[in-house]
Amino acid sequence: MITFRDVHVTYPTGTKGLDGVSLEIPEGEFVVVVGLSGAGKSTLVRAVNGLVPVTSGELEVNGQRVDGARGGTLRRLRADVGMIFQGFNLVTRVSVLRNVLMGRLSHSPVSSLFGVYGAADKEIAFDALDRVGILDKAYVRASRLSGGQQQRVAIARVLAQQPHVVLADEPVASLDPPTANAVMADLRRVQRQLGITTVVNLHFLDLAKSFADRIVGMRAGRIVFDGPAAEVDDRV
Ligand code: ADP
Ligand code: ADP
Repeated sequence: MITFRDVHVTYPTGTKGLDGVSLEIPEGEFVVVVGLSGAGKSTLVRAVNGLVPVTSGELEVNGQRVDGARGGTLRRLRADVGMIFQGFNLVTRVSVLRNVLMGRLSHSPVSSLFGVYGAADKEIAFDALDRVGILDKAYVRASRLSGGQQQRVAIARVLAQQPHVVLADEPVASLDPPTANAVMADLRRVQRQLGITTVVNLHFLDLAKSFADRIVGMRAGRIVFDGPAAEVDDRV
């Protein structure tokens, strides 16, 4: 469960990223945030794991306050909140498997320090790769994969982290439309299988409608629409 209570985010430049957002996302829901560029989608998603600090209001993830969280509290929170980015953020010179094992960092800090992971970590990583259909790429260098495959590696890395919440900030914005659709379908399928609460921001309404349980529309840092995907009209 993710709860925003009158959350404001003001950047150091004075720009308002969020202007009084209240939102409750129950466990297991797949929420897509839509809106024009600059609407605050990215700020909303990044606030959830503390990547963007909250200026005022309250933000809770599974009972844990995010606003004001620091140090060990923030680290524990982030261990439970996986993040997927537009640019994949892989270490492209190492293998796919190694990238996915990085998702085990918070579970096996000592193993990861020496780059030696246990059989259990590897099993989890292989299972994650299998779920997104790229098990056969485990020993391929990440730089050799296509964009769609690289984003699947990023999804597998998040799954290996075994989080309760996944955040995805424009995960398919750099992919061509058919690949974007296929990657969203993969993300949605594994999210359903594992029941992970997921918040994704997208700038294509048609993609949002195809995959969301619920769509949140934003404009100028505020929520202007919130409802089931089927009820979305042109207000957003
Ligand atoms: P979206 O994801 O919908 O494009 P953002 O959340 O990125 O919107 O941005 C919301 C507003 O906050 C915009 O006016 C943007 O320019 C501003 N903004 C975003 N990030 C920063 C930042 N790091 N510093 C200052 N302003 C920012
Ligand atoms: P998006 O629209 O997908 O959120 P942008 O291209 O607007 O991405 O922003 C890219 C990066 O620049 C982000 O890290 C964002 O936080 C930052 N940013 C966006 N707007 C501003 C701004 N007005 N001042 C400073 N940083 C910004």
